[in-house]
Amino acid sequence: MRKHKIISIRNLTDSTFVIRFERLKFQFQTGQFVMLKIPCSLEKREYSVYSGENDDFLEVLVREVEGGKVSGKLKKLKPGAEIEVEGPFGFFKFNPEKFALQKFLFVATGTGISPFHSFVHTFPELDYQLVHGVRLMEEACEHTDFQKEKITLCLSGDEGGDFYGRVTDYLITQKIDRETNCFLCGNSEMIYEVFDILTGKGIPVSNIYSEVYF
Ligand SMILES: Cc1cc2nc3c(=O)[nH]c(=O)nc-3n(C[C@H](O)[C@H](O)[C@H](O)COP(=O)(O)OP(=O)(O)OC[C@H]3O[C@@H](n4cnc5c(N)ncnc54)[C@H](O)[C@@H]3O)c2cc1C
Repeated sequence: MRKHKIISIRNLTDSTFVIRFERLKFQFQTGQFVMLKIPCSLEKREYSVYSGENDDFLEVLVREVEGGKVSGKLKKLKPGAEIEVEGPFGFFKFNPEKFALQKFLFVATGTGISPFHSFVHTFPELDYQLVHGVRLMEEACEHTDFQKEKITLCLSGDEGGDFYGRVTDYLITQKIDRETNCFLCGNSEMIYEVFDILTGKGIPVSNIYSEVYF
């Protein structure tokens, strides 16, 4: 693992924050994740890269899990401190050259939006629709980084989003082309349910990619 200096911590909500740290010579493909470890501690955890492939820093978007061993400690880090970074890992990659038809559906819950943020920063011209599910409006972190007409905010516990309900309730109502490349990221329950909805709509399994956080 290599040590990278923290540049800044940006608090988005009481429990969600973006850590920016030195990139050094770290190479990754958008969609991949890193393992983070605080020096002298034992545990390390996976975090998707939030920043783009061409940024000269690295960022991750983290939600502090109550009683969590690592996420709580990450929140307390200060600029100038060091963090150990290993990777990149994972096959949840969005190299657009690999896709015959460049039409993407991204479905995320909570911080599962992170790899899609990296993707959109790296390839802003691509044809995508992002469906993001959170409970409250304040949890819709940094949506300004996405084109407004390409994002559907599903709020399950608040008014004011584009859809009132869970991402699964929304997707059931939608017509989705068979050729769409569907990427799902977030909690396992959502991923299993969305997988069933998409295959039920005729999307081939080979066009569905997923990254389970928990
Ligand atoms: C490939 C991959 C990528 C990931 N990317 C991100 C990311 O970009 N941003 C991010 O915030 N997290 C991400 N995660 C989750 C992250 O790795 C940690 O699991 C999470 O931060 C909790 O770690 P912790 O040490 O604080 O909690 P732990 O000490 O591991 O767990 C404490 C308690 O919380 C429960 N718990 C663990 N994780 C969650 C969760 N996510 N939600 C609710 N309860 C939980 C555990 O069962 C346990 O009871 C990713 C996971 C994977 C596998």
